[in-house]
Amino acid sequence: MDGSNGLRDLERIVEEGEEDLRAAAVGCGEGCGGELALRAVASGRGCARLLALGMLLALGACAPLPQRAGVPTRWEPSPNFDARRPNFVIVHHTSNDTTEQALRTLTDQTRKVSAHYLIGRDGTIWQLVDERARAWHAGQSFWGGSTDLNSASLGIELDNTGDEPYPQAQVDALVALLEDVRQRLGIPAANVLGHGDVAPRRKTDPGRLFPWRTLAHRGFGLWCDPPWPDTANAMDPLLGLRALGYDISDPQAAIAAFRRHYRPQDMGLVLTASDAGLIRCLLEQEMPAGQGN
Ligand SMILES: [Zn+2]
Repeated sequence: MDGSNGLRDLERIVEEGEEDLRAAAVGCGEGCGGELALRAVASGRGCARLLALGMLLALGACAPLPQRAGVPTRWEPSPNFDARRPNFVIVHHTSNDTTEQALRTLTDQTRKVSAHYLIGRDGTIWQLVDERARAWHAGQSFWGGSTDLNSASLGIELDNTGDEPYPQAQVDALVALLEDVRQRLGIPAANVLGHGDVAPRRKTDPGRLFPWRTLAHRGFGLWCDPPWPDTANAMDPLLGLRALGYDISDPQAAIAAFRRHYRPQDMGLVLTASDAGLIRCLLEQEMPAGQGN
């Protein structure tokens, strides 16, 4: 490569960067040099272009460049947006004996797992990831057609081995956190789920001992006490599970997840008429979010 080619390459890079620079400057606001950057782009030539490239790099520190389509588009920024908001809560148990152990795992770069919150047995709440960011807790998942629950949810880990009852202090802390989240984000009650619900082939947490009934009485998650309505065989219960949101591609896994959550005293893997009644009751409780913008 000779010198003139190198210069042309640099100019091309600057030109391609201008569109992103304009977008970044618009999104950056006061104090980030956005105005200055736009002026540098507007001057358009020689040193100003290099200055623009410098500003492009500098702006990276204050605002991420917009994610653009992979096909040619024209950038016409609108001021009418805010951050995407999670619309699900996925509850987990850590399978650990101590909070320290769980914290080590959830912050270990090599493990590539995290959650937004971790709640200790004593009710201490740790926050590990910004709520606006995508934490890595649900993995391959499915609910009601959504296949990437990590992108749509907050993940809450409860320190618990999976075989022990959840202490009152821990449940109280979870409810307090969920009440706070509900006030800010308006997540529908029906969208508070367990990891086992959204990954029935792979996961069982938060396990049979998790107090879903208590949680539902505080307004989080669905619950129906018997007697359940008689559906008179009018509904295929497996399709009912799909209507609730479950992935039924592995029916046994879906049924096990459903029973662990809603009928933990009866872990049979054949759906009955009474299950159909329970599912119908749950479906009738499910309410749309009714959120505005
Ligand atoms: Zn989990």
